[in-house]
Amino acid sequence: MRLKDKVAVITGASRGIGRAIALRFAEEGCDVVVCYRADSGAALETVRLVEACGRRAIALQADVTRRKEVRGLMAVAVDRMGRIDILVNNAGVNKVCTFDEITDEDWDWVLDTNLKGPFICCQEAWEYLKVGGGRIINIASVAGQYHGPKTVHYAVSKAGLISLTAAVARYGAEWGILVNAIAPGIIETDLTRDELRGPGGRAVVGLTLLKRPGELQDVTSAAVFLAGDDQNYVTGQVISVAGGAVLP
Ligand code: NAP
Repeated sequence: MRLKDKVAVITGASRGIGRAIALRFAEEGCDVVVCYRADSGAALETVRLVEACGRRAIALQADVTRRKEVRGLMAVAVDRMGRIDILVNNAGVNKVCTFDEITDEDWDWVLDTNLKGPFICCQEAWEYLKVGGGRIINIASVAGQYHGPKTVHYAVSKAGLISLTAAVARYGAEWGILVNAIAPGIIETDLTRDELRGPGGRAVVGLTLLKRPGELQDVTSAAVFLAGDDQNYVTGQVISVAGGAVLP
């Protein structure tokens, strides 16, 4: 039990990577605040699965781009669960298209969700994370390190998130808050299912050394490592979970 009796707030935990992290954290002894935007049924299913692991869970609605909603989310999380030890900024969106097809609306939607959202969540969780020297884990992407290969606004948002990770880590150090990012390669979820089966997905897999997509467990294991007390000296870093698509 690497996360025994800790409390994690996970955004976008109604499905995909967020739900997988919620369940893995629960298996490691963590209670979970399941943050969702629209699908309360899916969020409640995550709650049910966490509870089946013997841990506490609540589902709270908040759009990460709206500060008032995020402020309310963090306050209710602390009120109901007692504290926040871990914040996972996982909520994210993409609209796969070529550079010339991106509209201003697409740009704002992707940048607001993937970059401004984590900024707001970090700020609003800050006073609670300061109490116990908490952890922040930002779910970035190999796209932010590779600058593509296709979707420009998505790549820029994730490159920004990697920069936010290092910048906020500087501020967190004083309080013992460790801030890190995970940059997954392509993992099959709702976000990538169609892409993965088409030429775009095959091209992305072709960029990896291992020539296959990753699995949810590859990402959740990295998240447990960053969230737990097995390590207390990693901050401001990015763990690439991308089959060697990007080499340092
Ligand atoms: P997903 O299955 O599409 O799930 C996205 C989650 O984010 C959903 O729970 C969604 O909630 C939530 N969300 C979206 N906009 C939100 C908002 N404004 N406020 C709050 N929640 C919001 O995606 P995924 O594949 O699990 O991806 C999770 C994260 O991993 C993303 O940041 C993504 O960029 C990153 N990532 C994924 C891959 C991959 O291959 N899958 C690779 C690299 C990085 P609703 O259903 O309510 O909208």
